[in-house]
Amino acid sequence: MQTLAQILQQAAELGVARIDAQMLLLHACGRPAQDRAWLASHGTDAIVPSQQLAWQQLLKRRVAGEPVAYILGYKEFYGLRLAVSPAVLDPRDDTETLVDWALALIPKDQPRKVLDLGTGSGAVALAVCSHRPLAQVIATDASSEALDVACANAAALAFKVQFTLADASHPDWFACLEGESFDLIISNPPYIAEGDPHLTALTHEPALALTSGKDGLDAIRSIVAHASRHLTPGAWLLLEHGYDQAERV
Ligand code: GLN
Repeated sequence: MQTLAQILQQAAELGVARIDAQMLLLHACGRPAQDRAWLASHGTDAIVPSQQLAWQQLLKRRVAGEPVAYILGYKEFYGLRLAVSPAVLDPRDDTETLVDWALALIPKDQPRKVLDLGTGSGAVALAVCSHRPLAQVIATDASSEALDVACANAAALAFKVQFTLADASHPDWFACLEGESFDLIISNPPYIAEGDPHLTALTHEPALALTSGKDGLDAIRSIVAHASRHLTPGAWLLLEHGYDQAERV
């Protein structure tokens, strides 16, 4: 019988990040995946056979490259627990920076109209809702499966977001928002170049959420080209982009 510490060691030898192994092992043991303090103080416990079986299945999926968020079915983002599925991008910690920027631009005590383009799981839109209850938040996505996930997350958190299905084949990301203007437009669009070597590690996530043309900038080009028609005077457009795209963006 293996101890929990031995199991974590074995996962490390297979190249699984410690935090991932801890979350999956806690899940297999029927504990909250955040409860790493429990794991630290139970390293010498032996795992029970049924949990070991569950662990092995989880480990196998992680070793095959599946994100922990898909395996567990949820991800913590900006303090919110969001359901995620392979229909949406696994929300990244880095994207919390985008929310920080957005919140800095939205006054707490005034209604503001905020648009999240390509919302995926709804992460950015819902994080804004959670900290700016007066904001009127609209969120789009070109994937109806993604909007289902985002909608369910909004309902579970009891936040009001207006979700709008965008047309994936339309070159203008704002085509579904004709005549509407916003005080803040936020987007974490797909920005990875087709053929980028990083994509080999991202095969479980929807390509629609990751790649955008030869240089990765098709989505951002469309957003930048059309945003001015949808921004009120003095409004902001906030975009996430790749680490090496700042100058071009
Ligand atoms: N930042 C993510 C990654 O590099 C991609 C997110 C995106 O394309 N918007 O894995």
